[in-house]
Amino acid sequence: MMIEASPASREQALQPAYDIIIIGSGLAGLTAANVLAKLGHSVLLLEQHFNFGGLATWFTRPGGQLFDISLHGFPIGMVKSCRKYWTAEIANSIIQLKRIRFANPQFDLETAFDVDDFKRLLKTRFQVAEPVVDDFFQTIRRMNFFDDHALTTRQLFARFFPGRDDVVRLLMEPIAYANGSTLDDPAITYGIVFSNFMSKGVYTFSGGTDALLAKMRGELRRNGVVLRARCLAEKIIVANRRACGVRINGQDIRAKAVLSNANLKRTILELVGLEHLSPAFLEETRAVRLNNSSCQVYLGLREGERIEPIGDLIFASTAPRFDSQALCAPRITSRTFSVYYPELRPESGRYAIVSSTNANFSDWALGTEEYAAAKKKLIEDTLGALEVFVPNIRGKIGHAEAATPRTFARYTGHLEGASFGTKFEGLKVSQNLPNEIAGLFHTGSVGIIMSGWLGTVNYGVIVANNVDKYVREGRK
Ligand SMILES: Cc1cc2nc3c(=O)[nH]c(=O)nc-3n(C[C@H](O)[C@H](O)[C@H](O)COP(=O)(O)OP(=O)(O)OC[C@H]3O[C@@H](n4cnc5c(N)ncnc54)[C@H](O)[C@@H]3O)c2cc1C
Repeated sequence: MMIEASPASREQALQPAYDIIIIGSGLAGLTAANVLAKLGHSVLLLEQHFNFGGLATWFTRPGGQLFDISLHGFPIGMVKSCRKYWTAEIANSIIQLKRIRFANPQFDLETAFDVDDFKRLLKTRFQVAEPVVDDFFQTIRRMNFFDDHALTTRQLFARFFPGRDDVVRLLMEPIAYANGSTLDDPAITYGIVFSNFMSKGVYTFSGGTDALLAKMRGELRRNGVVLRARCLAEKIIVANRRACGVRINGQDIRAKAVLSNANLKRTILELVGLEHLSPAFLEETRAVRLNNSSCQVYLGLREGERIEPIGDLIFASTAPRFDSQALCAPRITSRTFSVYYPELRPESGRYAIVSSTNANFSDWALGTEEYAAAKKKLIEDTLGALEVFVPNIRGKIGHAEAATPRTFARYTGHLEGASFGTKFEGLKVSQNLPNEIAGLFHTGSVGIIMSGWLGTVNYGVIVANNVDKYVREGRK
């Protein structure tokens, strides 16, 4: 990855020390920075990319086309979190996505994606007995982090809906896209995330990711956070098992605490240095499984072109039934189409459609020519899949571009381009990091639960409070 010193960092030199240095400007890093600055700490936030936001980002292309990367939908809980930890203005720009559509060989339906509508669908369309439906929703609502971790999502579904792979698809497919979880992950990871979504449907930011990040940057600056893009944290400086600074573009900056929003395994295995870690912790870290990566295809309609409304979020699949492995396979059968109508950014007047697919990093270890051909095929196949919904789509497209797990690895530094951090076991390692190295904390996508926009914002707050406590105790 090419990293240069930013013009901003050349203009204004960094101080030799800050209370807290945060590595990475994903939603967790940004939120933690805001919380800590408001608590009165001096905070330096570093981002290796030229843009802030991590996966919560966007890019532009000539001709006024703009594409959001991960703004496809999040639960209502974001309103409360944004109001409490950001601003009322940010919270007030959250709007509901009304038309969520499933189109697959088992069913084609539209839903508001909330508990009432899902209960109605399960009872009427899928003919599941009312007491079973009610019991299922009560069971998942009661699930919490301290429950039995041995029960898998597969077992949970088998208990309530034996032999009903159509019901499993309705309940599971959106969550698999939201956080990469599979039927073999702990049922609590499903229960917590599904209940969050089911509370009141799926939401987005009016104005898009660019408007949100502009508001967040403004708020961080008002609260005194020092923001630096194009600043790679090369190393976390550790002495006597205590984090005491960060090496940034060759310069050592001291800190009372360091909070990493970089990938968990990269933080521990690459930024800290193996010599500072106990063998047991190292072993536990190495055993943490990364979550899957993603492919995306970004399709921009030419200026003046329009399409009829086809839904806001479409879970489209040609696979006969839900299958976690097929969902990541290079022969793509399942995609989500996020349709960005001009209403999201009224001043632009443009339509964009982003197709997202879960993917494995290893499937994209291809030579240069093969890789280029595979990307081309990804775009072609996606257009073919979209033609089912918009028959004349090819004639309207002005820009088409693909991203693969390699793209995600390159822009975020996440090992294997992991889109949703780690599997469940990563959460314990993330939480135990300060016990291994005093003053070193981790936040961001981890353990499935602490993933997605809402999960990472909330985990950012939780860890920020731990950092605050640590720094305050050090002052006594
Ligand atoms: C294709 C896709 C679609 C998604 N769709 C949704 C969705 O619809 N809804 C939803 O809720 N979630 C979605 N997600 C997940 C969501 O975007 C992420 O869970 C969340 O944004 C991750 O935030 P984070 O705080 O973990 O940090 P990240 O976004 O992972 O950011 C980490 C940051 O740290 C920086 N960094 C790393 N190492 C260093 C270093 N050494 N020095 C300086 N900086 C460094 C990186 O450049 C990056 O900016 C999607 C993800 C993907 C990939």
